[in-house]
Amino acid sequence: MVSLPIPYGRQHITPEDIQAVNETLLSDYLTQGPKVAEFEQQFAAYVGAQYAVVVSNGTAALHLCALALGVQPGQRVITTPITFAASANCVRYCGGEVHFADIDPATALIDLQAVRRLLESHPRGYFYGLIPVDFAGLPVNLEEARQLCDEFGLWMIEDSCHAPGGYFTDSRGTQQRCGNGQFADLAIFSFHPVKHIATGEGGMITTNRPDLYEKLLKLRTHGITKDPAQMSRNEGGWYMEMQELGYNYRLPDMLCALGISQLRRADEGLARRRELAVRYDAAFEELPAVQPLTGAPGHAYHLYVIQVPRRKELYDALRERQILTQVHYIPVHTMPYYQSLGWQRGDFPLAEEYYAHCLSIPLYPSLTDEQQQYVIGCIRELVQE
Ligand SMILES: *Cc1c(COP(=O)(O)O)cnc(C)c1O
Repeated sequence: MVSLPIPYGRQHITPEDIQAVNETLLSDYLTQGPKVAEFEQQFAAYVGAQYAVVVSNGTAALHLCALALGVQPGQRVITTPITFAASANCVRYCGGEVHFADIDPATALIDLQAVRRLLESHPRGYFYGLIPVDFAGLPVNLEEARQLCDEFGLWMIEDSCHAPGGYFTDSRGTQQRCGNGQFADLAIFSFHPVKHIATGEGGMITTNRPDLYEKLLKLRTHGITKDPAQMSRNEGGWYMEMQELGYNYRLPDMLCALGISQLRRADEGLARRRELAVRYDAAFEELPAVQPLTGAPGHAYHLYVIQVPRRKELYDALRERQILTQVHYIPVHTMPYYQSLGWQRGDFPLAEEYYAHCLSIPLYPSLTDEQQQYVIGCIRELVQE
């Protein structure tokens, strides 16, 4: 018998993970110990960036990025409507204005041509930043995004919560890993249980910019520095300075230990996700009613999204069969909060059309072949009814 229920995503915790956490529980450090820097260094190496800053969750990572880039009230920033609300909310935390560009329906990623049209229809200096999202694990072409940002004077935060280990191929044929800091000023990741690496709550920022790195370290811990070289004066061994308004966005040592242990299996998990995706692709080729989003060799497959004519019926029928799918995402501009800021249904028709038909079906490394066959069998039966 196949093991049920089957969620759309879930964490994978091994005895080694448990051992790693237990060891830190018995160490001298429950919060900021040696595992913090170790996790940061190993994560930076994994994505190919120079610096990494671990924080309490992906949303905190986005907030610190917006602060480090100096988002001010009224500044306008562009993102995609098809993302988790946090990608947009970080701009609001700083009083900035969120704007959206519609998606490319084949990939559900922000359409960089739509971004260009938006930028060209306003005077230079009207927009300050761009937050592209590697939605579902498919990396945005950041080389093209960077060209746009340079042309119009924008900074860029890559929201790569869905794509650790993913890459796109640039115009010279080089594989560019998500979060490697070659094109975006900052990139962020989340370690929420459904993401590739799970620490419960957790997040990471990567960058190649030493100025932003220094700012992030300070902002993560109340805006305080203990580095004598950075202080205005020194009154003794106890002395520290709070130099700007920061937060407590630290991740404890025990969760960093879990992150390190999880990171060791990141490539293995990614390979399994890709293997499962290939099987879904093959199964749905024979089902014209099921349209998967376009794939790519560097896809990190956080989600496997299909589009179907009658989404609600399929969602409900799969639920009855204990297959717990999900919808990613309700377009951000249709949320009541963003509607209260003036956005309306109909503003981004391609995102809304995508939302009407999309469904994320189970995909995670510990999904068994039998479970996947059961999912495919149920979908086949239901769409052919
Ligand atoms: C998960 C996620 C976030 C937020 O991460 P948390 O760790 O849950 O705060 C932000 N953006 C995207 C695209 C995400 O999937």
